Amino acid sequence: MVMAALSMKDWASSVILKCICGHTIDDIAAPNEVEHLLVSYRAMERLQDLVDEECGPSGSIDMWPEHWEESGAVDVWKCPICERLYVNPKGKPEDVVIYKIERIGLPDQS
Ligand SMILES: [Zn+2]
Repeated sequence: MVMAALSMKDWASSVILKCICGHTIDDIAAPNEVEHLLVSYRAMERLQDLVDEECGPSGSIDMWPEHWEESGAVDVWKCPICERLYVNPKGKPEDVVIYKIERIGLPDQS
């Protein structure tokens, strides 16, 4: 079992996360290169429907964060040093899923 050296601190609404590699990543600067959204094609269709519903009557979109959440897009943070991915980094610490590069390039298929 791998123990993640993960610690989170909530300052106002910002999150600071210490990556397993030792680098500290946060969402203090916005926009930034740490925060990503993982969007399935199904979630993208839901997002388009939500935007169409709001944009039709009002002519504008005011609910971007809510629409992303409602569509099913998933928050993913990427460590710029080791490229580990933290899925749901703002959730409860026990619910954060961490991915690490296993391999670059496909294995020889022959
Ligand atoms: Zn890292």
